[in-house]
Amino acid sequence: MPSVYGPVASWRLGHSLGIDLLLPPKTCTFDCVYCQLGRTINKVSGPEDLNEKVEVDTVVKDLKKMLKEVPLGSIDFVTFSGYGEPTLNLMMGKIIEKIRGLTGDVPIAVLTNASLVSRKDVRMNLKKADLVVAKLDAPNQELFEAINRPAKNLTLYSIIEGLKCLRQEANNRLTLQIMLFRSLRNVDNINEKTIEELARLALTIKPDEVQINTPTRPPSEGYVLPLRDRRLNEISRKFKEILAGVDVVTRISPRPPQAVEKRRVREEEILELLKRRPCRLGDLVKSLGGDEGSMRLLIDELIASNRITSVHFGEDVYYKVIVISDRNF
Ligand code: SF4
Repeated sequence: MPSVYGPVASWRLGHSLGIDLLLPPKTCTFDCVYCQLGRTINKVSGPEDLNEKVEVDTVVKDLKKMLKEVPLGSIDFVTFSGYGEPTLNLMMGKIIEKIRGLTGDVPIAVLTNASLVSRKDVRMNLKKADLVVAKLDAPNQELFEAINRPAKNLTLYSIIEGLKCLRQEANNRLTLQIMLFRSLRNVDNINEKTIEELARLALTIKPDEVQINTPTRPPSEGYVLPLRDRRLNEISRKFKEILAGVDVVTRISPRPPQAVEKRRVREEEILELLKRRPCRLGDLVKSLGGDEGSMRLLIDELIASNRITSVHFGEDVYYKVIVISDRNF
């Protein structure tokens, strides 16, 4: 499976080229109830639990190949994200150095669940990125366990202390990403008390930015529901009140990505993207380029050959790979 995919049209990072440092099946320290990748098949506590990982040379080879097709000038970010928690691969620091040699001034971001940030080796790797986007969904251990369903021995306390250390040690930009959701069960993070506690906890980390997000793709658990714009706005105002001086952005004010050049898109590119992120037809066109008619034909072919399927979420139709199994990789 290629370790480089996309580009992906991202609401905060524009057109972002994805780097995936893990091999299937989905490997993560968490099993978040809202995860767009479905349930975590391989839940691990740390890098020592990984059987296999993507090597430096593989990323270099895959990136060189991708850059023959996608002009560097059309990329806003190179982003570590994909099929699980990227900091599990301790070669990340070395890989960031190699990528810089190929992509020059293009900024590098890491999307992390921050579960391993209390480790010095992981912080050393994160320090090499230009931007770290770290997850924070709960203000206490009980809710953390209910929402993020972490592997054994992972505590919210160690995550918060690790993020504070990263803040002190690194000069790069730190964003906290908070996923807020309604629920048909007794698990959510949107009551007034939780919101206030989350904002006060975020303040102790002193981030540059807080992103207030809500699930926009089909979640792992069917009881998870997105917030309406009005509630997101109310919560955003509360965060701004408490986090004076910190940029607070919400999912409803996304930065529109620049248009990608029209080009011929291959089925494999669509599959590689859909393995990491379910997309609507329009998302695929915005991410990979091409025109809507050709993309529709490719989608129809992939559905007919049982490689992808469609899922309804809210008023939208998303496409995703059918079975996360060896056949798809
Ligand atoms: S949302 Fe991210 S951190 Fe949570 S289970 Fe999915 S991949 Fe892991």
